[in-house]
Amino acid sequence: IVELYGVTKAFGALTVLHDIDLNIVEGEILTLLGPSGCGKTTLMRIIAGFEPTTHGRVIIKGADVSNLPPDRRPVNMVFQRYALFPHLDVFDNVAFGLRLKKWPKDRIREVVRNMLQLVQLGDYGNRWIHELSGGQAQRVALARALVNSPSVLLLDEPLAALDLKIRHHMLAELKRIHQETGTTFIYVTHDQDEATILSDRIVLMNGGRIEQIGTPEEMYAHPRSLFCARFLGETN
Ligand code: ATP
Repeated sequence: IVELYGVTKAFGALTVLHDIDLNIVEGEILTLLGPSGCGKTTLMRIIAGFEPTTHGRVIIKGADVSNLPPDRRPVNMVFQRYALFPHLDVFDNVAFGLRLKKWPKDRIREVVRNMLQLVQLGDYGNRWIHELSGGQAQRVALARALVNSPSVLLLDEPLAALDLKIRHHMLAELKRIHQETGTTFIYVTHDQDEATILSDRIVLMNGGRIEQIGTPEEMYAHPRSLFCARFLGETN
C-alpha cells in the first residue's frame, strides 16, 4: 500500500536517509525501530508528505505523494504530544477535520460518536481536553486521526509521554483498534519491547539505513548483524 523507492534525504551537507527501499503491506502494523537520530521521524514525515525527498519516490495506493494535495493524501498522523485543540471539547476535536470538509452535520455526529465508542470514550464528548488523563488524550488524538478512515495511520512514538502502566494498556488498545479498523499502521518507536508486542513486521534502522526487516520472531531468532543482536537484546 506504501512503496518507497530509493528514498534519500539530506539536510544541507548531512544525509539522514540513504537510499531506502521498502514495501508496506495493506493492513499490517509495521514498526520503524532504531536508536535516537537514526532517521525514523524523518522517514515518517516523508511518507506523510510533510517533507520532500532529496532523491527517490513515495507511492501510496499507486499515487506519488509529492503529487497529491494534502487533503487528498490517504494518510493521517498521531504525534507523541497529541496536538489537540485546548479550546475545543473532545467531540469538536474529533469533528474538526470533517467540519472543514463540510460533511453534513448528521453524518458528522454519527461518525464522531462511533469513533469515540471505538476508543472507549463514548461518554467523554463534552469534556475539555485539560480534564483528560494522558491516555485519554491520546485516545482522542487516535479518534481524530481515524475519523475520516485513512488508509494509512502514522504513529510517531504515540505512547512516549505516558507512564509505563498506561503504556502497556494502550498497546493492547492500539492492537484492538488496528484489528477493528483494518487500517495500515506505521509505528515509530525506539523501544524494542513496544515493537515486539505490536508489530507484524519490524524495520530496524541505523544511521539512516535499514539494518534488517522481519517479523519480531525472525529478528530475534536470526539477527543479521551485531548491531541488530545488541539493539534487540538490550532490555531482554
Ligand atoms: P528520535 O528518536 O530522537 O526522534 P529519529 O530516529 O526520529 O530520532 P530524526 O528525527 O529523523 O531521527 O532525525 C535524523 C537526523 O536528521 C538527526 O541527525 C537530526 O538532527 C536530523 N534532522 C532532522 N530534522 C532536521 C531538520 N529539519 N534540519 C536539519 N537536520 C534535521
